[in-house]
Amino acid sequence: MTHEMTKPGHNRDSKLFYQSRSRRPLIDHAKGVYMWDVNGQRYIDASSGAMVSNIGHSDPRVIAAMQKQMEQATFAYRLHFENDAAENLAWRLAERAPGDLERVFFVSGGSEAVESCLKLARQYTLAIGQAQRSKVISRFPSYHGSTLGALAITGYTPMHAPFAPMMVDQPKIPAPTCYLDRDDLSDHDRGLKYANMLEAEILRQGPETVLAFIMEPVGGAATGALVAPDSYYQRIREICDQYGVLLIYDEVMTGAGRTGKYFAAEHWNIVPDILAVSKGLAAGYAPLGAMIAPDRIVSPVLDHGGFIHGYTYAGNPIACAAGNAVLDVIEQDGLLENAASSGAALKAELGKLMASYSFIGDVRGKGLLLAMELVANRDTMEPIAPKHMAAARLVDIAYDKGLIIYWRRTRGGYRGDHVMVCPPMTITLDQFGDILGPLNDALAQLETELKQAGGI
Ligand code: PMP
Repeated sequence: MTHEMTKPGHNRDSKLFYQSRSRRPLIDHAKGVYMWDVNGQRYIDASSGAMVSNIGHSDPRVIAAMQKQMEQATFAYRLHFENDAAENLAWRLAERAPGDLERVFFVSGGSEAVESCLKLARQYTLAIGQAQRSKVISRFPSYHGSTLGALAITGYTPMHAPFAPMMVDQPKIPAPTCYLDRDDLSDHDRGLKYANMLEAEILRQGPETVLAFIMEPVGGAATGALVAPDSYYQRIREICDQYGVLLIYDEVMTGAGRTGKYFAAEHWNIVPDILAVSKGLAAGYAPLGAMIAPDRIVSPVLDHGGFIHGYTYAGNPIACAAGNAVLDVIEQDGLLENAASSGAALKAELGKLMASYSFIGDVRGKGLLLAMELVANRDTMEPIAPKHMAAARLVDIAYDKGLIIYWRRTRGGYRGDHVMVCPPMTITLDQFGDILGPLNDALAQLETELKQAGGI
């Protein structure tokens, strides 16, 4: 799908640019789980944008809260004033965050949240006299953001290549892709096998040089909603404790309820040392993210010259007013429970599609962070040749049928193809048909195309 300039709805050339020249229809309006373009075409937003619009679009309660804040004060710079919206949201996040995580640093997005985690970790080790710790181990594949620091710990080769000379080369260990393993290990032992790769890497690097390990508790677009066995999470925490390595949870995508708990860490009762959250925090109503850390990490930094880091828009009152209102909606409407129950029901429905389409190799995820992996052969999990761009093609076909699911590039870097199916946490069972109908049609069309092209 390339929406060129001539596509109805565009009456002029664009001065904007993003990744490529391709254009998209103009949005007209959006409400709940649906979006309409200016041509009147309706879409169901089954990816919540990029797993952002967790409470659906245009909730009047959030709009009213933002408007109220705007009438009071649109901006108050953090070095001049505190603002109640930011203070309240920080308290509420502290109450909901795991364990002793209680100090909140606001930012405007996921990459900024991750950058902040790296810098706080580094400054903490300086403050406690461990200046030799600077290496951040992450997983491959993974996605932690596009700014140079976050990119250095992102496991995705094609995004690195052009910038390699400008970045520090950070060590990576394999993500726990247990579903690909064909050994005789139990789930429990597989979890341990992958977690122990962290210990091996820490020892290889020299434990005294390792600052942190960062992971997404449930993988996002890089791994297709990858969930590890329970044993993995516990063992990773133990290893980090043993070697004094800070454990950073990147909950940019999983946080704010998407997996059915407010933070995904709660599923395994893990308390990371530092946590990043963004997307669902203000759920697309405003750009907002946060780093949450315990006072035992923040205080030494503040006492040793302060945190040498910050963004102009940090704690923006309008964004934080949106964050507070989004949290109200999540709690008043029982959206965590709905993400868990609707997520389980949707996962089961996606699983049923496997009976009709042998090229669906796996359906996985937690809550409403769900993905389907497409393969050439389900028994061997052999990927479809990258030239077919199977996942991207499925996303395009679905889009033309009014179904928005999430794509990612398949060319190089990551293994195989997967699509994310992650509707807002407000999704109801009677709306499932609007996802499953076009998805089924799109899969049928893709199957025909792949067979013709010799892809499956
Ligand atoms: N971390 C994770 C896990 C993400 O999914 C993303 C965004 N996809 C980011 C970080 C970066 O967030 P942003 O695009 O808001 O900078």
